[in-house]
Amino acid sequence: MTSPYIGRFAPTPSGLLHFGSLIAALASFLDARHAGGQWLLRIEDLDQTRSQADAERQILQALEDFGLEYDGTPVRQSERLELYRAQTERWLEQDLAYYCDCPRRALLEHGPVYPGTCSRRHLGARADHAVRVRVNDQPITCHDRLQPPLTQNLARELGDFIIRRRDGVYAYQLAVVLDDIDQGITDVVRGADLLDSTPRQVWLYQLLGQPTPGYLHVPLIMREDGEKLSKRLGSAPLQADQAPHTLWRALRALAQPIPTDLRGAPVAQQLDWAIAHWQPERLPATPHIMEHSLSD
Ligand SMILES: [Zn+2]
Repeated sequence: MTSPYIGRFAPTPSGLLHFGSLIAALASFLDARHAGGQWLLRIEDLDQTRSQADAERQILQALEDFGLEYDGTPVRQSERLELYRAQTERWLEQDLAYYCDCPRRALLEHGPVYPGTCSRRHLGARADHAVRVRVNDQPITCHDRLQPPLTQNLARELGDFIIRRRDGVYAYQLAVVLDDIDQGITDVVRGADLLDSTPRQVWLYQLLGQPTPGYLHVPLIMREDGEKLSKRLGSAPLQADQAPHTLWRALRALAQPIPTDLRGAPVAQQLDWAIAHWQPERLPATPHIMEHSLSD
């Protein structure tokens, strides 16, 4: 018997939920419910300058409109800073992380790989220093239930990476890993835009001596011009009165063969079918799907 499934949806309240984010939420929900598992909600509002209370309220409303009921109480990253601070301190004490005061300009000159400038400088604690975690020169391979395995050598491709920015904001990589461990998440189902950051997260799991969750990265829907749907349709939030029709389109976008006679049916009825028949292996194993290839 493996551990019971615990999944989550973790939106950033920087804008309204649109069709692209609905697809990620729906895939995550269906995967959890099909497995008879829990589905938690976490608001990723670390970047307070971008976070909006309004957007959070509207995300919750959209989930309700689409029948995507979560378990328990939503968790907010802005209320969990102590968790991130304590772990950062531990790694600093163990010399697994260090302070960095490199100006942005110097980093840009060096290109994508941080050259380790501050690695042996032993800078003292300062609130306006960034904190970087040390990486090693070993390939890390991420396995995904849908996408092909992804291998990265962090030392060669990225260098020691930031877990706390110079403005004091904790990095997504750190928060997502600590939260997923803390909440007992067994399966991460999310948009393929986060595929590239997975090796960094797997590295943090290794440092923490924790098992990685299962991953399923859902393809992003792209427009013909190659632009992410979410950007272009950012001004077109989901409409509650269109929910049954939009849910139908979302299920088709996820390549689920929902019968025609459920088209426009109440969301609860469509979801019952979709939970029972969830087949993530039908999704294309690519990071993107073209919008024109979606049947309506
Ligand atoms: Zn530095």
